[in-house]
Amino acid sequence: MKVLKFGGTSVGSSKNINNVINILENYSKKDTVVCIVSAVGGITDKLLLAGRQAQNKDNGYIETFNTIKDIHFNIINELNLDKSSPIVESVDIKLNALKSLLDGIFLINELSPKTSDKLVSFGEKLSSFIIAETMKNRALSVEHKNSQDLITTNSNFTKAEVYSSITNKSIQDYFKSATQRITILPGFISKSKLGEETTLGRGGSDFTAAIVAAALKVEQLEIWTDVSGMFTTNPKLVKQAYPIEKISYQEAMELSHFGAKVLYPPTVQPVLDLNIPIHIKNTLEPHAVGTIISNDVANGNYTVRGISNIENIALLTLQGSGMVGIPGFSKRLFETLSQEKINVILITQASSEHSICLGIDENDAEIAKTTIDATFENEIALHKIDPIIVEKELSIIALVGDNMKSHQGISGKMFSTLGKNNINIRAIAQGASEKNISAVIAKTDVKKALNSLHEQFFEAKTKQLNVFITGVGNVGEKLVDQIKQQRKYLKDNLKINMRIAGLSNSRKMIFDEDGIDLNTWKEQLAEGEKASLNGFFESTKKLNLRNSIFVDVTANNEVATLYEKYLRQSIGVVACNKIACSSDLENYKLLKRLSLKYNAPFLFETNVGAGLPIIDTLNNLIASGDKITSIHAVLSGSLNFVFNNFNDSTKFYDVVKQAAAEGYTEPDPRIDLSGVDVARKILILARESGVEMNLEDIENTPFLSKSGLESGSVDDFYKTLIKDEAHYQQLYASAKAKNCQLKYVAQFNNGKASVGLQEIPIGHPFYNLEGKDNIVMFYTKRYPEQPMIIKGAGAGADVTASGLFADIIRIGND
Ligand code: ADP
Ligand code: ASP
Ligand code: MG
Repeated sequence: MKVLKFGGTSVGSSKNINNVINILENYSKKDTVVCIVSAVGGITDKLLLAGRQAQNKDNGYIETFNTIKDIHFNIINELNLDKSSPIVESVDIKLNALKSLLDGIFLINELSPKTSDKLVSFGEKLSSFIIAETMKNRALSVEHKNSQDLITTNSNFTKAEVYSSITNKSIQDYFKSATQRITILPGFISKSKLGEETTLGRGGSDFTAAIVAAALKVEQLEIWTDVSGMFTTNPKLVKQAYPIEKISYQEAMELSHFGAKVLYPPTVQPVLDLNIPIHIKNTLEPHAVGTIISNDVANGNYTVRGISNIENIALLTLQGSGMVGIPGFSKRLFETLSQEKINVILITQASSEHSICLGIDENDAEIAKTTIDATFENEIALHKIDPIIVEKELSIIALVGDNMKSHQGISGKMFSTLGKNNINIRAIAQGASEKNISAVIAKTDVKKALNSLHEQFFEAKTKQLNVFITGVGNVGEKLVDQIKQQRKYLKDNLKINMRIAGLSNSRKMIFDEDGIDLNTWKEQLAEGEKASLNGFFESTKKLNLRNSIFVDVTANNEVATLYEKYLRQSIGVVACNKIACSSDLENYKLLKRLSLKYNAPFLFETNVGAGLPIIDTLNNLIASGDKITSIHAVLSGSLNFVFNNFNDSTKFYDVVKQAAAEGYTEPDPRIDLSGVDVARKILILARESGVEMNLEDIENTPFLSKSGLESGSVDDFYKTLIKDEAHYQQLYASAKAKNCQLKYVAQFNNGKASVGLQEIPIGHPFYNLEGKDNIVMFYTKRYPEQPMIIKGAGAGADVTASGLFADIIRIGND
């Protein structure tokens, strides 16, 4: 004999019902079959909604009833039954009875738990009847039997307890004399000894099936649902979750108790003692392997078996100095909750005994608060304890695994993963069996928590990076291209799954939590929502994705002021924008502090020398204990270009114009030519070397003419270049007379920094610097005479984009 249970989705449409019937027909060729069915998907919720509406005198219950009716008749119509089938008439009679019950609730304004059970029982009665009739119509040997005649419970309405010996006997007696090949039973519903209609608790059809399987001592119980087994975590929330092939009864129970809805928690109980395996299968994919729950689980080298979550949790905290060392507080607390039939899901008590924390269903929070405060009225009046604190909108997440007990460091990994992702933990509980570690977190963090924990414990160490880019001009576009081109390489070789989850230019912005399609990003962006800097931050924060990185590819002041907000959300910041790091020292220090505090990297390699590894090298030198004594550098690609091309046969104006046209200067060339840009860069290097200074502390000897320095606009400035050609030729002539080259040099020496034009003699490492190259010479304790030199292209969209790319990868490899 086979026992199979089909859930709400499995019987939720005519197509799925046909699948179910095919499966049953095939099974019945070899064996007799008992099939337990749920109500059509969503119907139990709708019945309860109609009941509440009727109770509250809300006429909407009629509409809800009509929806329930339509859903069933649509399915019946699609099943194409013979006209002779009595199904329509019988279903109509059942629906009329349902309507009368709802009218009654409406009239008396009351929905007791007893009536509620009567009400919801219609769901399973209807679905099982429709399926049985359809099978009869197809000439299969089938009987529809009401489980209420077989399963006897106490009168604990909405979650009744089963009297197992009476129930087992009824089931065995019935099937002893049954002659049909297939029996269809409604799940979830039962009757009390007094003949009242009861139910086994939400999700209880699984339990009905387990009771039948145990009574009949079958070889295996099959639970057919809408996913291919019990997954490593809820597949609806974590795309990378995968089915667990084999799992122990204890682990399955623990996962389901902690929210894995795929199995109703009490289901394991009846089959456990008899060692009947439970096979979870997918009606929509019948050939998928599914999950076997049994004792026969090899002790493989796994530790964490699954991760689950329970939603709608409220946390109660009872605290006060009057509790310390005095027995009896917990007893009274739990007694109060038990009298109110409030289920406690999680308990923690610090050894100081100063407080007890309890996790309960959010719906019970109000009543819990009132009754507990009443219990401790005296102590509260005497200020021995505080009124109970209730926090809502929380969830529990739990790691489950039989083998966790013999491994150290799992909770460490769990909490550091959550911490890194800025997920605040409100309470922690670990059972002494160490099969479960649970944490209470904000409801809004659940998806991120499950995804990051899943990545940590189940994915072949692939790390997902979620990149949010602001500024997709020249450099930004190159960065997107590089990401697109390298995605596969990164996945295969570095185990990094890099996705762009947000993109913005100055006009529009777009987001996609599954990663923006990089083949069509331009078209999507053109159609995006209106851009705003704060809006970009808010959307990034709201998506709340793990390993989020904000990339600033602008030169914008305002964008730089937002880094603080990103870092506070544990969102990493990668910037080629120099403004933040060369801003006021206090701001620079604040950003560094926030980066440490919130575990959010703040990287800006491209602030100096574009893609050249200058800051990274400097950081590595310092991290390894070296000390920077001085830095000599040519850090401006644009100035280098200008002075490499300027001579007595060219005009200064023409050369600057050409540099601007080729994109080597800032839009306002004065930022480069006045030395401000270079001053910012040496300031950043000085700060990274550990010296606290501001931009004003840098000595800047200008080479521009007086009128050039005083010009009011970019146009005026260009005019002064023509007018003052002689001034610039003079600079060139002076250098030429000494056989020198003009280079714009930045220096940092003994805590002081300066920038200015210098005449560089032959033989000096700067002398032959070409095009837009940069060069940096680090003199350190370990490199006292021969400096460490880094040299190469220091400007250009491609190299800057690859510098940004490298910073992002640095975070990925962390
Ligand atoms: P049925 O109606 O067949 O009883 P349920 O909706 O009760 O189905 O349970 C199946 C659902 O359980 C899945 O669709 C999935 O959303 C949810 N679920 C939660 N956690 C898990 C998990 N760890 N593995 C599989 N499914 C899970
Ligand atoms: N129909 C019931 C519910 O939705 C029982 C079940 O589907 O298992 O809770
Ligand atoms: Mg279910």
